[in-house]
Amino acid sequence: MTTRRAFLRTLGLGLAGLAIGGPSLFAQAHGRRTHTVVRGDTLGGIAGRHGVTVTALKVANKLKNDRIAVGQVLVIPGTSSVLAHVINATAGLNIERGRWRYVVAHHSGIEAGNARAYGAAHRRRGMENGLAYDFVIGNGRDSGDGEIEIGPRWLKQIDGGHVRNAFYNAHGIGICLVGNFEKRRPGRRQMESFTALVDWLRDEAPLGIRPKFTVHRMVDKNHTVCPGRYFPYAEMKKRYG
Ligand SMILES: [Zn+2]
Repeated sequence: MTTRRAFLRTLGLGLAGLAIGGPSLFAQAHGRRTHTVVRGDTLGGIAGRHGVTVTALKVANKLKNDRIAVGQVLVIPGTSSVLAHVINATAGLNIERGRWRYVVAHHSGIEAGNARAYGAAHRRRGMENGLAYDFVIGNGRDSGDGEIEIGPRWLKQIDGGHVRNAFYNAHGIGICLVGNFEKRRPGRRQMESFTALVDWLRDEAPLGIRPKFTVHRMVDKNHTVCPGRYFPYAEMKKRYG
């Protein structure tokens, strides 16, 4: 995993913090939550209950593999909590395995707005299912900087309306970053949330498949500049292949 270091960064876990002591020392020093392993526990189950990723849990406890033992004390790592509500909401969904083959990045093209505003706009444009995207990541104006809002289509697991191509609407998870990236780069916190979300969707979410990364203009060729010239496409392609 080339993303381990980046993952730590996005989760707000300092490498220096991880270097000191064992889990219990670390927990005491930082007032962190711990979990004592009982029969039947799995890393995935513990991670899900605490709204953290399995990767973060393993890193925080220096686990080389998924084996845990009854009585073992695990530190529950702090997260920037940007993903906790997404993990929790997704845990309750009935997701068709293998369906979500792509993650499609978008920009909103304007600096104002949030999931609710875009949902209302899409409805006015005749989309009966409202917000065309699955997720919207705020820029600090009408939602938090880096806040991930979950759209109703994700919660209902229905087709998106974010591209013209029906196949990609049926098999692509639409993620919209608020802003006009023809004019500026996305914010640091927005991109941290974006990569945290895409890392999780690819590596840990219960999708039964690892979705490929793409952007709107690669799907609807010659139709849009979305997500804008300043979206770090090359960097993301390098990260996600
Ligand atoms: Zn788009």
